[in-house]
Amino acid sequence: MELFDSHAHYEDEQFSSDRHERLEALRKTNVRYLLNCCSDVSVFETVLEIVAQHDFVYGSIGIHPGWVQETPENYLELIRSALKHERIVAIGEMGLDYYLNPPHDLQERIFRQQLQLAKELDMPVIIHDRDAHEDCIRILEEYKPQGGLHRYGGPVELLQKAFSWGMYVSFNNDLTYPEWRQPHIDCLMATPWERMLVETDCPFAAPSERREERCESGDVANVVSVIARRRGVTEEFVADVTTKNAKKFYRIT
Ligand SMILES: [Zn+2]
Repeated sequence: MELFDSHAHYEDEQFSSDRHERLEALRKTNVRYLLNCCSDVSVFETVLEIVAQHDFVYGSIGIHPGWVQETPENYLELIRSALKHERIVAIGEMGLDYYLNPPHDLQERIFRQQLQLAKELDMPVIIHDRDAHEDCIRILEEYKPQGGLHRYGGPVELLQKAFSWGMYVSFNNDLTYPEWRQPHIDCLMATPWERMLVETDCPFAAPSERREERCESGDVANVVSVIARRRGVTEEFVADVTTKNAKKFYRIT
């Protein structure tokens, strides 16, 4: 079985003392590919270093809506320059976050500028949408980017809109949290196989029975197993289809 963790954060400070060991340890698991996502300018260098040191790791570069106030004016130039690395394959994560809630106009400006850059460079985007579903999908509809919605738990009708121009959606261990899994399960049941990805968003969001612990990419196996059970197929099938989809999404040959 080959697994692709389509969204992880080994640049996070929770991995500051052992990120390279933990990444190398994945070689003994079924995790064959990993996309290290990015959240703000202060970690661009760390993401590039991770990608340079581990040949099965791909990366993205971009600004998370929670960090827009810390973002310098020249950030688009910094993104462009980081994108020169051949295994930086996407822009993100970007989007809207009305839970962390920095000023909405600033969030929207930085979201739109990154969508515009992705169009110009013909690159896929990774979308973060927390408590901002209507606004987020409305803006996406204007640009119709290639890419994926990560940990989306909003209305199914809005997700279907994003499918209509070819976006993917990635599921993680949100599917296991009794108090908030239902919207994610509803989205899972409405997602065609060819639009589905799996991720951990590690170090955040370990499976619910270990929720206080640090999560790692190996925990993507639990996501695969939950999806297999819910959709009545084998784990091998879910692993195979989501790995193929992630390679297509990130254009990895
Ligand atoms: Zn993330």
